[in-house]
Amino acid sequence: MRKVIIAGNWKMNKTIADAEVLAGSLKKSVGNVSEVEVVVCPPYTALAAVKDIVQGSNIRLGAQDCYWEKEGAFTGEVSTAMLKDAGCEYVIVGHSERRQFFHETNETVNKKAKALLKDGLKPIVCVGEKLDERKAGKTFDVVRDHVENSLAGISRDDMLKTVIAYEPVWAIGTGVNATKEQAEEVHKFIRGLLEKMYDRAAADSVRIQYGGSVKPDNIKELISEKDVDGALVGGASLKADSFEQIVRGSIK
Ligand code: PEP
Repeated sequence: MRKVIIAGNWKMNKTIADAEVLAGSLKKSVGNVSEVEVVVCPPYTALAAVKDIVQGSNIRLGAQDCYWEKEGAFTGEVSTAMLKDAGCEYVIVGHSERRQFFHETNETVNKKAKALLKDGLKPIVCVGEKLDERKAGKTFDVVRDHVENSLAGISRDDMLKTVIAYEPVWAIGTGVNATKEQAEEVHKFIRGLLEKMYDRAAADSVRIQYGGSVKPDNIKELISEKDVDGALVGGASLKADSFEQIVRGSIK
């Protein structure tokens, strides 16, 4: 049985004070939920404050990116050890915004995922096609490329700790979510890739989240699909009530 995982990606939003308010509300509303794994990923500046608030609840802390080197002259970067020290359990890597605006490649995503796993952190590896790629019938080719190359060389044991987020780029922040059939088709495809890379049991154990305009009114139908194991939520994670509704709506 794969436990549903709902993660909120706050992106570059929230001052420390705002993050404290949101985390406080979430602790009250979903801090005791045990059927679903709830993760919040604030910006780096708010990690410590949010950690203090969610401590003692079921809410886990995540970050939105990392760097693979241990320490040193890498101005502006944050290492996996620093994120562990800050209380993170999960770290998003390869988000399409990082691929698009910060030249993230499968190779760098792979280095980040491996560095995280080495430090005992769990990567949430994002994959997904752009609109023109979908229109050109290349969805499966792009997703295969992202999955195979972002996860290359990751051991079976480490893969079981890794979460994949299928996020079609055309659905992110657009209000146009993939239909449940579109999501399931790609999730099933990803599970098939995992079976080829590892084995059936591993493929059946890895959680695959859907991300892209997930809202309280579409979570139920998305999560009803067999291979959809949760959601990576952007916009709707910034308000306590909509995130709570998504968490509650995802209980299978
Ligand atoms: C995201 O950025 O990961 C995301 C899915 O955003 P949104 O929910 O706003 O589409």
